[in-house]
Order: sequence, then structure tokens, then C-alpha cells
Amino acid sequence: MNANLPKLSRLTRRSALLVIDVQNDFLPGGRLPVPRGDEVIPPLNGCMERFHRKNLPIFATRDWHPPDHGSFQAQGGLWPPHCIAGSSGADFAEALALPPETCIISKGSLPEDSGYSGFSGTDLAARLRYLGVRTLYVGGLATDYCVLNTIIDALRLGFRTYLLIDAVRAVDVHPGDGERALGEMRRQGARFITSDRVSA
Ligand SMILES: [Zn+2]
Repeated sequence: MNANLPKLSRLTRRSALLVIDVQNDFLPGGRLPVPRGDEVIPPLNGCMERFHRKNLPIFATRDWHPPDHGSFQAQGGLWPPHCIAGSSGADFAEALALPPETCIISKGSLPEDSGYSGFSGTDLAARLRYLGVRTLYVGGLATDYCVLNTIIDALRLGFRTYLLIDAVRAVDVHPGDGERALGEMRRQGARFITSDRVSA
């Protein structure tokens, strides 16, 4: 895969960073832990620092579920309860260095909305268009759910979209889900890049 990675991607005024669901419940020790999910934090912090320095927009999505959310097992969904709005599990990871001007996007706030995509039921697309954003850099949790669905929507909406390959981790409910998600994103037109190659 490395042979296909672009050498360098230079940020422009039309670039934005999208940090997906780096919340306590998705980290080791949380209620729905993504294996090694905490490893996305250092590369994302590095990217946020570069975007912040250039005054480029940074968006952070979060699962923000009601206690009876449809994705929870009690309602017939796949998951244990997680990221309940206002709970400490829904807080962003303490080590995540979100700059103060970060725009927070809450998703999955309605019982019937999975919240897998940062664009679903939110004003994210409108905000990006208002800012004139054309290119998105995306990392966070988890590769095979919220990162996958957000990137597929971003591509469908016409954004040039980079996956920060070292800044994502998969749940892998079924072994290989993460790899399959990467393949699907690639097929849909996502570009892969390591975070250190995103250049200010
Ligand atoms: Zn959720």
C-alpha cells in the first residue's frame, strides 16, 4: 500500500480537518473500546497543530446518543450503550488537543439515526461549503464504521478526501472489517496519506 501513498499533500485555504469520534467510550477502558484506539491521538494532535497554525478549520464529530438509542443492544442494535449525551464516556479524550475554535459536530442524537456518518442529520456539509472547503483530511474512530461512512458521504458530496491512514483504528467486529473498509474507501475515491505527509 505504501507505494501508492502520495509523497506530500500541501494544505491550502480550502483544506479542513475532520476528527471522528475520539471519545472516551471508544478508547481502551471505555464502554465500546476500539482496540488501540488511543493510538490515533498523537498523529491527530500533530495535524491539529498544523491546521491551527494556518488558521484552517478543524471539525470534531462526536456520538451524542440518547439512552434509548436504536444502535444499543436493548433496542435490537449491535452495540452496548455508549457515548450517551452528557456522560463522561461521550467526552472527547483528554489527551486530544482540540484547539478552542474547533467546531463540534454532534451526531446520532435521535434514537433512529445511527450517527455513523458525520454528515447524517448534521449541518456539517453546509458549514464546509460556507467556508469554501474543497479538501478534507479525515482520521479518528472507528475505521469500519464512522470513518467509513463519513468518508463515503464526503466523496459523494464532492469533497476531495484524504484518509489519514496512521490516524484510524478499526473495531473489527468481524476480523478483516477494517481492511475491507479501507478497500471500500479506496474504491470510492478516497486518497490515503500518513499524517506526517500533510504539509503546512
Ligand atoms: Zn454510536
